Amino acid sequence: MKRIAHPLLTATHGTQREIVSEHFGPDVYTRKVYIQACLHADETPAMLVATDLRQRLLALEAAGRLTAQIVLVPVANPAGLAQFVMGAPSGRFELASGRNYNRDFPFPLEAILQRVEGELTDDAQHNLKAVRAAWQQSLEAIAPRDEMASLQRRLMLLAHDADLVLDLHCSREAVMHLYTSEWSWEQVEPLARYIGAKASLLSVDSQALSFDEALSLIWWRLRERLQGAYPIPLGNACVTVEHRGQRDVDSALAQQDAGAIIDYLCHAGFISGEPAALPELRWPGTPLAGSEQFIAPVGGVLVHRVALGAQVQPGEPMFDLIDPLSGEVTTVRSATAGVLYMRRDVRFVRPGDPLGRVTGTTPIRTGKLLSA
Ligand SMILES: [Zn+2]
Repeated sequence: MKRIAHPLLTATHGTQREIVSEHFGPDVYTRKVYIQACLHADETPAMLVATDLRQRLLALEAAGRLTAQIVLVPVANPAGLAQFVMGAPSGRFELASGRNYNRDFPFPLEAILQRVEGELTDDAQHNLKAVRAAWQQSLEAIAPRDEMASLQRRLMLLAHDADLVLDLHCSREAVMHLYTSEWSWEQVEPLARYIGAKASLLSVDSQALSFDEALSLIWWRLRERLQGAYPIPLGNACVTVEHRGQRDVDSALAQQDAGAIIDYLCHAGFISGEPAALPELRWPGTPLAGSEQFIAPVGGVLVHRVALGAQVQPGEPMFDLIDPLSGEVTTVRSATAGVLYMRRDVRFVRPGDPLGRVTGTTPIRTGKLLSA
């Protein structure tokens, strides 16, 4: 394993943060896997999974079983990890600006198109390499304006040429679930099986430019723009894995999740050896636009009526909101049939606060499909 430190743009005088990437497997390789954890820095279960993954990758490397380069970034957001407000960790948003660390990643589509002009041929593999080279140059040409921008650019530089990208997160209170693009689903579906995902949310463009989406959507947009002229492969499969809820920091769960990821990498041929038998898919992939996102109509004490992972039907009472002054109870019901895959952790709400989400098979939402 080689460990490389990548200094970030200095935020304030006297500080210097860095991203540390760990590179496993052969120096000369044709395929690459990129795995990062804790881009949302307060999602600790992902960090524990990455710690367990490191041990497994070291052993597999020693056994000569890695057939691809595997890059692991266990602490993807050292800036967010340093943010505490009066003792409470706050790693989802940059405190200074309020920006979500996993939104609006650089998306240099036009710059790539300019750089590949005259470079593309009828050979899809050649075009794959040409696009990746142009992508790297386009990212390197961006002058980051602040520490967060330099963090996002560095993570993209580490991942843009990977065939497979796993971005490890967790939710508030949740069952294991994942987000991926519709066209990656065929490749990602075995991961959903191994990891036991109880929901898989699919979209083409959620308009978030989250890390996984910014990486995969480039290929989709390039295809649209160059359609008919040149063969453009879909150069990667990218997935955001939600390792349950923030409090689900447990050694046995982390070992189970890391083992499932290794099984998947073995199944996909990035690790040699006989892959573990494919488990059943616990819930089919459903459109992200079909998930019902519940919002509190009034403020009050939140009482959950439905267990995580439960299947619900339209009309089912999901949440009680209790007015502490009048005692009045407002019950929020599901309009959708599906699985309650995540729900709110804080038990007091204000009007407009999110309460939870249920998978659905019919698209009901448009525009921005993820929270800010
Ligand atoms: Zn997250």
